Amino acid sequence: MTILSFLLSRQLSRNFADQNYKYNDVYHREHGALSSLNTKYAVHWLTGQFCEHRMESMFRRSMKARVRFESRLSLILVALIFGMFAITDYHLLGLTKEYYLLVTMRIVVVSLCFLLALIIGRYGNYFSKKWLHALPLWILATGIILIVPLRPESLTTQITAVVVATMAFFLLIPNLLTVVTFASLYLSVGFLAAAVLFADLSPVVTLRLALLLVMTNIVGFCALLRLENLQRKQFGLLQKERNQNRHLLKEIALRKDLEAQLRMVAERDELTGLDSRSHFMKRAKALLQRSRLEKKPFSLFMIDVDHFKKINDTWGHTHGDWVLTKIAEACAQTLRPTDVIGRFGGEEFIVALPDTGPDNAQTVAERLKKKVAELPLKEEMSEMRLSVTIGIALASTEDADLDSLITRADHSLYVGKRDGRNRVVMNREGAEEG
Ligand code: GH3
Ligand code: MG
Ligand code: MG
Repeated sequence: MTILSFLLSRQLSRNFADQNYKYNDVYHREHGALSSLNTKYAVHWLTGQFCEHRMESMFRRSMKARVRFESRLSLILVALIFGMFAITDYHLLGLTKEYYLLVTMRIVVVSLCFLLALIIGRYGNYFSKKWLHALPLWILATGIILIVPLRPESLTTQITAVVVATMAFFLLIPNLLTVVTFASLYLSVGFLAAAVLFADLSPVVTLRLALLLVMTNIVGFCALLRLENLQRKQFGLLQKERNQNRHLLKEIALRKDLEAQLRMVAERDELTGLDSRSHFMKRAKALLQRSRLEKKPFSLFMIDVDHFKKINDTWGHTHGDWVLTKIAEACAQTLRPTDVIGRFGGEEFIVALPDTGPDNAQTVAERLKKKVAELPLKEEMSEMRLSVTIGIALASTEDADLDSLITRADHSLYVGKRDGRNRVVMNREGAEEG
């Protein structure tokens, strides 16, 4: 009795505290979303189960392991208590025939409960094997009813035991409300019938007993209904939150992807895959600054395709685009990975070469010019001679910034064009030994 009431109060307070905490937490986060729970999460007012079958099955599956463990534990405890009442039987009956019958019945009930605890622990399925979870309740109820004909004179003690057992059915042995209700009604009706038949009750006492049992069932039913309701509402809110989190994670991934695409669009030239003009400027500025700090030479190439308009005019823009990509490839292959190459606009490319003095710059530019001239072209373009003019500017310590370097490289390029194209021209203004 004490153990039962202790277990009952502990389970109740634990469940309510736990649920209240999570419930409030979610409640505040969801800005009072309880009222907006849609039908998917609606709980039936009488059965305490989700109205939607899929949700109910999800809920029961989520509790499967816990229910198995708690069913097994409570069954063992209840069976032990039921068995221990054999001591009371001995005090009341002595070693009589009724006593031996009672002990045999108790042994059968306890053994069956232990066996069922074992089976439930191994195969118990809270969703599809409801009957397996219901069976121990019916066996215990039958055992309790059978005590009446064998020990009719101790009915008062037995009434208390039935009340406690009914509460235990509802609150301590995890089960569905509907299952418990039927088992508990069977216990009450069976006990009342046995009491009338074997304990010779007066009509008034029978009515009082019936009222007590009805009250016990109502209290048990309401308490379990409330519990089932709260548990499912909590589960529903958690599911909702999980869905929202999943949605949020998807949204974040999508945004990150978009961000990466935007960065790509901003930093890369779509046609050639080289740095865009703005991105080149950013990277080249940083390189120039570092070269200055380390007192190392720095060169800048401005490359322009010769007579490019003719390519477009003769073979169309698609061919022109193709040539631009080939030249970009040639640049990437000829230059070092530390050099930064950008598309400055149209058929003009720009290269920042850190740690590169005038001699090296001249050699690299000549090599690049040669590489472009030797580029294998499409068959129909075979008579064409592809060439570039390269203007070089060298950074000196007095050089103010990248813009002035670009102006000087541009000027060299202009000189190269003016002098007949297909050449490398160096502006030696900032030249130092390199
Ligand atoms: P020059 O030797 O003096 O540099 O002559 P050019 O024909 O190369 O120079 P011009 O400035 O007269 O013509 C450049 C042409 O490049 C004009 C423009 O239509 C073309 N162009 C610019 N951007 C692109 C592009 O992305 N794709 C293609 N196919 N053509 C482009
Ligand atoms: Mg041009
Ligand atoms: Mg050109």
